[in-house]
Amino acid sequence: MSQQKYYIWTVGCQMNKADSEKLAAGFERMGLKATDRAERADVVVLNTCSVRQHAEDRAYSKLGRVRDIKKQKPGLKVALMGCMVGLKHDDLAQRFPYVDAFARPQHFEPIVELIEGPAEDLGGEFWPTTYAIPEGPTAFVPVVHGCNKFCTYCIVPYRRGRERSRPVDEIVREVAYLTVHGVREVTLLGQTVEAYGHDLSEKPDLGDLMRELSELERLERIRFLTSYPKDMTPRILEAIAELPKVMECFSLPVQAGSDTVLESMRRGYTRQEYIDKVREVRDLMPGAGITTDVIVGYPGETEADFEQTCGMLEELRFDKVHVAAYSPRPGTIAWRKMENDVPNDVKTERLHRVEEIEHRISQELNDAYVGTLQSVLVEGFRGDQPFGRTRTGKLVHLDTPAREGKLVDVRIQHAGPFSLRGTLEDALTLV
Ligand code: SF4
Repeated sequence: MSQQKYYIWTVGCQMNKADSEKLAAGFERMGLKATDRAERADVVVLNTCSVRQHAEDRAYSKLGRVRDIKKQKPGLKVALMGCMVGLKHDDLAQRFPYVDAFARPQHFEPIVELIEGPAEDLGGEFWPTTYAIPEGPTAFVPVVHGCNKFCTYCIVPYRRGRERSRPVDEIVREVAYLTVHGVREVTLLGQTVEAYGHDLSEKPDLGDLMRELSELERLERIRFLTSYPKDMTPRILEAIAELPKVMECFSLPVQAGSDTVLESMRRGYTRQEYIDKVREVRDLMPGAGITTDVIVGYPGETEADFEQTCGMLEELRFDKVHVAAYSPRPGTIAWRKMENDVPNDVKTERLHRVEEIEHRISQELNDAYVGTLQSVLVEGFRGDQPFGRTRTGKLVHLDTPAREGKLVDVRIQHAGPFSLRGTLEDALTLV
């Protein structure tokens, strides 16, 4: 029998990308071979996202394409994976009868059964001894799965379950493997990454994990996503500030600047508590990169609530604001209990207002980088042009040649709202 080929399509967050990479590594271990065309595959996996309607729409369109392929190729095995798949999926099975297996995020078993894979022990839910094959000098490493927070608008806790942390030694082994295969920077992933460890018997925190990983000689940089203000303890922040390999770069979603909306969202903090947390970070790490997420048009958001969000963005001056208009996600608390009462045109107007603030402030913050010397890890190439990121997470395009995987000093020459451009300092010295 010829070797089976697999095709994995992925949409959504870094966690989904990491899940797909892990599944690909598992497929390779079982003797399957990757193909980049669904038409050539024996097994197709669609790894989906439910966080926004747009992401689901992309999955529906992909499902339609796969249905057509399966008509031509009835033996094709099709699996739907990720956040579109809940504990019960009868409705999905009815709607998409050509899908052969449904797998919740990180629950790979139905897919292994579908391809009649080996019943060997893969070491537990997260396949801890199956390592993703790195594609470059950076890699995502999930360290805590699931979420306990239950924000009203979010489907993640229902799909990814409660928080489960991976043991420190297991993560260290995986990262050591990655560094032997060329990885120089890892991004530690969790829906709320500072929740890491509280469910483990020895209760290590994210700082303890970072200390262990810092000992790995070939590892140059450690990043982490996504932060949650209430879980960011002073102990963790001190570790981030102290450890040279840990980047001073935070993704810290605020979602709204009004206490009324924050309470309605059940975010678990007030406007002032969030502001205090940002100040704590900046006191410890002046110049730290901080990005945030905002939802506009959440149920009940008044003009005055929205003004408070704008005021907060002006005050805290984030490096980047990811803004989305609220859309109800089936199965969430907000979908069950709240009226989606902000008209679409008002949502769009608010979205554009946030974008205007964000573009202006990002440009001003990026302008301050011009003329400075920045340490950049070269992550890859866009065309012939190398690119990488500063410690604070700014994307930098290099105007001089550089080797992938190298840490280089870059003199910043130009700033736009989304990225910087610069030249290697050594190259300048040679001129
Ligand atoms: S913290 Fe809130 S928004 Fe983030 S994953 Fe958990 S429930 Fe969703």
